Amino acid sequence: MNSPEIQLLIQHLSKLPGLGPRSGRRVALHLLKKREKIFRPLIQVMAEAEQKVRTCHICHALDASDPCTLCTDPKRDPHQLCVVEDVADLWALERANTYRGVYHVLGGVLSAIDGIGPQQLTIQSLLDRVAKGSVHEVILALNATVDGQTTIHYLIEQLREHKIKITTLAHGVPIGGELDYLDEGTLFTAFQARRSAE
Ligand SMILES: [Zn+2]
Repeated sequence: MNSPEIQLLIQHLSKLPGLGPRSGRRVALHLLKKREKIFRPLIQVMAEAEQKVRTCHICHALDASDPCTLCTDPKRDPHQLCVVEDVADLWALERANTYRGVYHVLGGVLSAIDGIGPQQLTIQSLLDRVAKGSVHEVILALNATVDGQTTIHYLIEQLREHKIKITTLAHGVPIGGELDYLDEGTLFTAFQARRSAE
């Protein structure tokens, strides 16, 4: 059988998203065979990312600086605030290259089944940002899942007292679809054709 070192490597790799024991074994073998070209550089970039990447205290995205480069970019419009479920959705929207405002990452959606209430998400931080008064439009770019829609209704209710425009993505987003899986063209269209939530 394999040495404990190899077993542990396989065990940890198998826990990664998209990998199971079978691909874990394949990846481990590949790394051990390509020690110089792949394994060592990978260890270096992983250690660096682990040390340097943090969560932005304003938008809750991931970056090597806090506040992040999106929050501090003078070319981004601070009056437009796009609310997404996860950092992956922010990345998807950035790839679609359709939005020039700033973001707010919720960290999930409300879910009775998973026991996720407003306290588990960055909702209070969102309300505080809006309460400061410089936001003119909040775009609720949440996934078209049941929980995503529930969260949209909750946020509309919470934001109602502020005199701001609230919009949601057009139904180019398939039901149950996640932004991260959409091609950039579909996402671009859904974003451009967003509509008022009231
Ligand atoms: Zn930020």
